[in-house]
Amino acid sequence: MTTDAAGHAVVVGAGVSGLLAAEVLARRFERVTVVERDALPEGEPRFRAGVPQSRHVHILWSRGVAALESLLPGVVAALEAAGAVVVHTPEQMRWLSPADWFAGVTGTHFLSASRELLEATLRRRLAARSAITLMDRHEVAGLVPTSGGGAVGGVRLRERGKDGRESALDAELVVVAAGRSARITDWLAALDYPAPVTDRFDAHLGYSSRYFRPSAVRRDWTAMYVQGNPDVPRGGVIVPIDGGRWVVTLIGQGEHQPPIEEKEWLAFAASLRSGELAEALADAEPLSDAVAYRATANEWAHFERLRRWPRGLLVVGDALCRFNPVYGHGMTVAALQAQVIAERTAASEPAAVAAQARQLQKAVAKCPRAAWAIATGEDSRYPSTDGPAPGRLVRMQQDYMARVLAAANTDPVVAEGFFAVLSLNRRPETLLTPQIAARARRRRA
Ligand SMILES: Cc1cc2nc3c(=O)[nH]c(=O)nc-3n(C[C@H](O)[C@H](O)[C@H](O)COP(=O)(O)OP(=O)(O)OC[C@H]3O[C@@H](n4cnc5c(N)ncnc54)[C@H](O)[C@@H]3O)c2cc1C
Repeated sequence: MTTDAAGHAVVVGAGVSGLLAAEVLARRFERVTVVERDALPEGEPRFRAGVPQSRHVHILWSRGVAALESLLPGVVAALEAAGAVVVHTPEQMRWLSPADWFAGVTGTHFLSASRELLEATLRRRLAARSAITLMDRHEVAGLVPTSGGGAVGGVRLRERGKDGRESALDAELVVVAAGRSARITDWLAALDYPAPVTDRFDAHLGYSSRYFRPSAVRRDWTAMYVQGNPDVPRGGVIVPIDGGRWVVTLIGQGEHQPPIEEKEWLAFAASLRSGELAEALADAEPLSDAVAYRATANEWAHFERLRRWPRGLLVVGDALCRFNPVYGHGMTVAALQAQVIAERTAASEPAAVAAQARQLQKAVAKCPRAAWAIATGEDSRYPSTDGPAPGRLVRMQQDYMARVLAAANTDPVVAEGFFAVLSLNRRPETLLTPQIAARARRRRA
């Protein structure tokens, strides 16, 4: 299948970053085709194999909630009407930080929903746009160069389930939003582009998650998070999601991988730094077996540093930069990138958008900075983490952050600053003010 490339953009992947990119491109391009290798569920939200992470806790921090709402006004209300829950944290959350329980402080909020509901809601909004086509059951197998070279002119498609029949889809702009499994480096190599420098920190963190139906008993919390620390690198989180369910994720590092067998899973839950999480599960009804997820390394492919970059190509979302998910930043960064694309292309014709691909790539590559600093700064605290060892400066920052976090447990001023950073509303440097430093110094981590 070939189409007229003029005014046409192709987005590879119908995950959160692909759907949000499609939404903003539809404001500039006559047609946007989102190519997805999975069969996309119609109607009710359903699991699909292409996003295995959807079975684990997926929260959207307040900055991501605001970005999502600015891109698709009304979407947050639609999510809440479908069962998503806004949780004010730490006020409505029992949260044991590496230092102590949070108590008596105000922080921020996050939206908690099943990832399936989030995607289904976004797809419904996109379906209402005549410019957007969701082409599922098609896998992108590579990029098509333009005849003169130096530009991407479309993608090679493989139809799933039809003996792998191949075709091409022409486009002025190709946005790769294919997630952690994206083959973009191979696709670029086939067009004679070098591999980007890729930074990597792997804390060897594992997840194991199950759904529960909470009992009707009254609780003074809506969600719970028992964090690990370097002495006990095991944690667990309970969040409410649509369908009146809880998703419960157990988290462990290195040799402390959380199991999936029922008895061991419950024993792991009981072995956390607090017994409260296991107690909360005691009268909850299990709705599923546990499933594990292990590929949680922080990886950032620096496409923006390549000397040459083809016109008409953009890489976003997890295909560009993926984080240890425990900090919950991936979807917020995806929404921020969509905002950047919208802002940068607001006055551009499709051909001009394709021509500014390199500048766009540089612009979206700034979005992961804060989340990357938080995730890698914390992960490199653990000796079992693979990655550059922290230098003196990073160790000083880690020590400082441990004090800030300890102070944030009870000090309202520090808590306000801490949660503004964690939710990506403010940059990490904003925690270096003399006021916060003085308050953090008073608390020993
Ligand atoms: C265990 C876990 C828990 C997480 N928890 C959180 C959280 O709490 N909060 C948060 O903000 N983020 C979280 N994340 C991160 C979040 O899932 C991602 O950052 C977010 O989904 C954006 O990813 P994406 O859209 O770029 O990729 P994905 O969501 O992975 O989507 C990629 C899509 O591309 C499709 N695809 C891949 N290759 C091809 C191809 N060749 N052709 C066609 N289609 C293709 C896939 O089928 C898939 O649909 C978590 C991640 C993991 C792994």
